Amino acid sequence: MKVFESVAEWQARRHEFVARPLGFVPTMGALHQGHLSLVKTCTAENALTVVSVFVNPTQFDDKQDFEKYPADTRSDLARLEAAGVDVVLMPDATQIYRDEYRFKVTESEFSRRLCGAHRPGHFDGVLTVVMRLLNLVGPDNAYFGEKDYQQLQLIRDMVSAFFMPVNIVACPTVREADGLAMSSRNRLLDENQRARAPALYAALKSSRTADEARHKLIDEGFVVDYVEDLEHRRLAAARLGSTRLIDNVEI
Ligand code: AMP
Repeated sequence: MKVFESVAEWQARRHEFVARPLGFVPTMGALHQGHLSLVKTCTAENALTVVSVFVNPTQFDDKQDFEKYPADTRSDLARLEAAGVDVVLMPDATQIYRDEYRFKVTESEFSRRLCGAHRPGHFDGVLTVVMRLLNLVGPDNAYFGEKDYQQLQLIRDMVSAFFMPVNIVACPTVREADGLAMSSRNRLLDENQRARAPALYAALKSSRTADEARHKLIDEGFVVDYVEDLEHRRLAAARLGSTRLIDNVEI
């Protein structure tokens, strides 16, 4: 497994990694089984797998959230190597944002709803970094989790709108045994919060309406950002203390 911390070095040596199809999994690190399921699908479907580990500052609307975002580089690299990844890109923000974020991708409708309504600028940051990473890697296939359902939808729409030559592959949400969707942020929950966290998935699944789910979450002590039904999905974001959890289920 080759690790590139320098974007310039990756660009200079890219031509050495010629096998096709090329698959790409973008991540923000602190890897768990959810990420690894994307990596597993990617290695099974592609001749070469590239993974990026980059905590993207532009998608954090809250500075504290960015500062406390978990990092575990050594363990991430060991897991990626064991999973058969060929290339890891771990650039720093100054390399990804040489323009100091003068150029960005903005979606003006769906990105303003749901998570976007509570996190101003979040999806501009997500779409901009995904566009930059896809341009750097040039994959045939790129893998994203259904856990971040609105993000997945916006990335699909961006790729279509800009005629980007990449196939977006959606991967199902991986959960803990008690139903909690795996997330790097779960490690920020204290014991009591961790015990209550599975109620998010349970409420989404077991309620007849979004409003009923919202009330169940409030009863469990969540501060609810939203619960909304959108076509055949019920999506929610809710906070336990300062940790924000998201989830969605098919309805
Ligand atoms: P992140 O590191 O949180 O930016 O996530 C990187 C990718 O992994 C995104 O496409 C996420 O949707 C995906 N992902 C994160 N958690 C899960 C999960 N529990 N199940 C499936 N995919 C996930």
